[in-house]
Amino acid sequence: MAEEIKTTEISESSTNFIHAFIEEDIAPGGRFAGMTVHTRFPPEPNGYLHIGHCKALCIDFGTAEKYGGVCNLRMDDTNPAKEDEEYVTAIQEDIRWLGFDWGDNFFYGSDFFDQQFDLAVGLIERGLAYVCELTPEEFKKNRGSIGIPAVSPYRDRPVAESLDLFQRMKSGEFPAGAMTLRAKIDLASGNFNMRDPALYRISHTHHHRTGDTWCIYPMYDYAHPLQDALEGITHSLCSLEFEDHRPLYDWVVDNTMVASKPRQIEFARLYINYTVLSKRKLRLLVEEGIVSGWDDPRMPTLTGMRRRGYTPRSIRNFAERIGVSKAASVVEFSFLEHCLREDLGAISQRAMAVLRPMELVITNYPADQSETFQIENNPEDPESGTRPVTFSKTLWIEAEDFMEEPVKKYNRLFPGNYVRLKGAHIVRCTGCEKDADGNMIRVFAEYDPDLPAGSTPEGIKVRGTIHWVDINTAVDATVRLYDNLFSDPDPDAADKDFLSCLNPNSLEVLSNCKVEAGFAEAQAPANFQFLRTGYFCVDSVESRPGNLVFNRSVALKDSFKK
Ligand code: ATP
Ligand code: MG
Repeated sequence: MAEEIKTTEISESSTNFIHAFIEEDIAPGGRFAGMTVHTRFPPEPNGYLHIGHCKALCIDFGTAEKYGGVCNLRMDDTNPAKEDEEYVTAIQEDIRWLGFDWGDNFFYGSDFFDQQFDLAVGLIERGLAYVCELTPEEFKKNRGSIGIPAVSPYRDRPVAESLDLFQRMKSGEFPAGAMTLRAKIDLASGNFNMRDPALYRISHTHHHRTGDTWCIYPMYDYAHPLQDALEGITHSLCSLEFEDHRPLYDWVVDNTMVASKPRQIEFARLYINYTVLSKRKLRLLVEEGIVSGWDDPRMPTLTGMRRRGYTPRSIRNFAERIGVSKAASVVEFSFLEHCLREDLGAISQRAMAVLRPMELVITNYPADQSETFQIENNPEDPESGTRPVTFSKTLWIEAEDFMEEPVKKYNRLFPGNYVRLKGAHIVRCTGCEKDADGNMIRVFAEYDPDLPAGSTPEGIKVRGTIHWVDINTAVDATVRLYDNLFSDPDPDAADKDFLSCLNPNSLEVLSNCKVEAGFAEAQAPANFQFLRTGYFCVDSVESRPGNLVFNRSVALKDSFKK
């Protein structure tokens, strides 16, 4: 059973236009009065789910939840060419991880092939469909244009002839492209989707579930409304590109003999800058080896985001806050990060980790001594308590926390300056040591043995606080810093080659990082805030005790302007 996730209250009271339609429909006298709201999420199992799907998931499952209804999960495997069982399992896992549950309502589009065939026979019998022998090229040529109707010489062939041909199409007598079954609607319609659209095509292709049973497959515009109707869906919520197909959707449910008449409502797709949201393009990134897999932490896939350290709540809050509308808009990637940061701030274990280490020696600290300081685990969560952290004469600090000749406003270590070592002593920098080539080797400082840890020497204003890790007990780690996968804000634009928009610096691997000893056994899933450097998670694939690997989920600084 999926863990229940509460999203922020933001749109609790507001109601989007889909909810308004539904409330009208289930009200007394409405189209679905007295019925349970029944939605569905129908992914095509030809790739992993991405953040765009999350919007649809939150709308489909969220709407059902809001009205005490049901949401089906349906693998839309109507098109036989591309499906893969690996994707089916991954899609289910991702949806459960987000916290949604379809109960027993799991279907495949192909479950309905038999019924769809019978319903098509019914259409032919009632003079509402016919077998057309135009080849795909001829079909295109005869489509007409605005004001000029389409043409099919087969439109008025006898019902018996169409019935015979349709059966023979099914039994494999004809090659692909030889003929189609077309709906008899209106060759002159201003909506080209209604110009006697094809309902079935011939394709001698093996199907991952039905094998070689079928060599004709229903077209999406015929299959989809029937899947909805046969599953008893009341509201078929889909993205805007299907708006022009709605008259055909309605025609199919009205003219086949199905009991249920679902209502299609469209919403705008999600677009996010600096990313691509198309399974086809994402698959190419994987196949070309540009990323390490569908779960590469730079990918906008759910599996990639999970590995990056995203939480289900941050994603659902994001989907909730961007809202639902008919107008397409591009959401800033930084808003997604903002939602993540907000959630991680509240739940992340604080830790000290030095990413680019430099040695700091406290020259007057006894070599045989060490102290243990208690440092807070999460200041945003008073109940999280403290943890012991060891301090001694030699520490790791960030290389950038020392400057021999400080630039203006530099508050960290430089000769003569005082700095607070987080949770421990205040030290005064006394100098540094370099090798023969002038490379910095170590930094020196002194503390005041007579002052309790943390207290400020009289008359001194300490401006900087830096993090540190005790050298003797530190554990080694690899840390991966990520940036946008694309440097172009709109790599998904139709006129761009998205592969030429890649950011060459989207991954930086730091292999010599030092982490507090207490986290030597850290295991995924675990979210950390490494002080001053960002939110990190233990990599779920490559990290092992003794060989820790952390991924930076998001930096600390919030660039999103509210
Ligand atoms: P892709 O191009 O990534 O394959 P798709 O629309 O073909 O997208 P499906 O597997 O058919 O993907 O999608 C399942 C559901 O998710 C559909 O209802 C679709 O409308 C929705 N969906 C996909 N991408 C987005 C998006 N970017 N924003 C909102 N909904 C989306
Ligand atoms: Mg698709």
